[in-house]
Amino acid sequence: MKLVAVTVITFCLLAPALGQTNQVMSTQTTTQSQAIRILRKGSKPSQQRSAENFTGSVRVNRLFEAQAPAHASSYLVTFEPGARTAWHTHPLGQVLIVTAGTGRVQRWGDPVNEIREGDVVWIPPGQKHWHGAAPNSPLTHIAIVEALDGETVEWMEKVSDAQYRNAVRTEEPATPKPVTESRPSQKAIGDFAPKLAELTDDVLYGDVWERPQLSKRDRSMVTVAALIAMNRPDQLRSHLVKARENGVTQEELIETITHLAFYAGWPNAVTAIAVAREVFEKK
Ligand code: MN
Repeated sequence: MKLVAVTVITFCLLAPALGQTNQVMSTQTTTQSQAIRILRKGSKPSQQRSAENFTGSVRVNRLFEAQAPAHASSYLVTFEPGARTAWHTHPLGQVLIVTAGTGRVQRWGDPVNEIREGDVVWIPPGQKHWHGAAPNSPLTHIAIVEALDGETVEWMEKVSDAQYRNAVRTEEPATPKPVTESRPSQKAIGDFAPKLAELTDDVLYGDVWERPQLSKRDRSMVTVAALIAMNRPDQLRSHLVKARENGVTQEELIETITHLAFYAGWPNAVTAIAVAREVFEKK
């Protein structure tokens, strides 16, 4: 112990004259003086990511910062369905560990890859890529990056809706369905009211529901709430199914109805609960 102290003092005396030695000394003192630190779960609030580099709803928790002389830092990132990063590169690459849900990762020019809970993804240095949630599932991953000259990422343009849709299309089963069958309103009312079916499929579901400013999950929540408040059990039935597909749980939907009893009226809530029971018990 005494020897260590003497060494440190000697280094301190020499340090001003020797820039290189100064670096070595600070590493040594760092090694000896720093205790183990534990950052407790939930001690740092999650941040909503800047719209500039992400599409859709993305929450980020920093897990650890780079501690000199180490260069690695890590984030826990949750993407709501449809949300994704912009195109970007990492100077020293990146590791993604998927902890929940289903998502997508794609290198520029390559086909998209589906990623699921438990998968570990290595993105090599300098490769242009994006990652994010599947259209119908949220995705949570841990991201680990190493800094080069203090930089961990270079952001580029956003992943457009067309690029995201194309990426999804390669995941679809190989057997093509007839166009009319894959469009829900064509199937339901297309033979009787073709224009209304076309508007519903192209404008409502093809455009409005695809807009990235709200996640599909959030759109389902507000749509279900509106249909409960307006007491529209016929439309509520299909939107409860859609909400489940967009990642809203059965428990959350029942809680939504309970909550709305106070804002939309008890009879509306009871009607909605009857529809929900029918939908959920059928599944
Ligand atoms: Mn990345």
